[in-house]
Amino acid sequence: MGRLEGKTTIVTGAARGIGAATARRFVAEGANVLLTDVLVDDGKATAAELGSAARFAEHDVSDETQWPKIVELCEREFGAPSVLVNNAGIGGAHFELLETLSPDLARKILDINVIGVMLGIQAVVPAMAAAGGGSIVNLSSTASVSPMNALAIYSASKSAVSGMTKAAAMELGPRGIRVNSVQPGGADTAMGNAMGVPLEEYSKYQGHTPLQRACHADEIASGVLYLASDESLHCTGTELLIDGGQAAGVWMKTLPGGPPRRKRS
Ligand code: NAD
Repeated sequence: MGRLEGKTTIVTGAARGIGAATARRFVAEGANVLLTDVLVDDGKATAAELGSAARFAEHDVSDETQWPKIVELCEREFGAPSVLVNNAGIGGAHFELLETLSPDLARKILDINVIGVMLGIQAVVPAMAAAGGGSIVNLSSTASVSPMNALAIYSASKSAVSGMTKAAAMELGPRGIRVNSVQPGGADTAMGNAMGVPLEEYSKYQGHTPLQRACHADEIASGVLYLASDESLHCTGTELLIDGGQAAGVWMKTLPGGPPRRKRS
């Protein structure tokens, strides 16, 4: 019996990266998955890999006119959604000083990362509540609790996701809907590893994290799976950090127990 046996799920931004890894884990654990993304070829290819338990739909999460059609498609193909993973996001690899960041790019990041999550919640709640409840998992970031220079608006967008998650948990708990967030640190995807170097090489940039390595997208999907499944039935409003300890505190080089002087892969 799979950990998501018989559940109907929607995963946004599922053409590649953490979304694709999540869709793969969900199908392996017995769920049906509607994968959505703006990347049509990649999205179709990922869904095709997963067989009859998966469908793909072209979808821009920031467009409120598209969300009702996604929920309708999900109901038609598989039934009412019991899990929504708001994973689609941009901006984590666009490093720029706040002073020079264009308002248009800042608005786009906020539109997709924040408004997209709000629209997703608004779209699924009626069907999810009518079907007896469910689980919404939002992809935030360590940047929400430990913001990064050159990622000011991205960090702000993820703080907004974490805040929205907690407010939604309060509003939706009485209707049987749990809302939690996952905070990845460095995951080996097109966004996290924008240079596209091998994982061992990418891990060399994680010298500031206690575990001293980047992670596979599948390690983030494990956390999403837990929050989506009935194993986390008493969790709502939580933030699950999967970051190799990046946000644990200020790891002082000059004090005993600090980071090793030579980076390890
Ligand atoms: P990724 O770039 O590989 O995947 C993101 C997916 O979202 C892509 O397939 C992209 O086409 C899709 N997308 C972008 N805009 C969209 C839109 N408007 N509508 C629908 N889909 C859209 O990145 P990833 O690393 O897999 O990121 C997944 C989530 O995890 C994001 O929310 C990201 O901010 C978060 N995250 C990632 C890391 C990391 O290190 N990889 C760290 C912290 C947080």
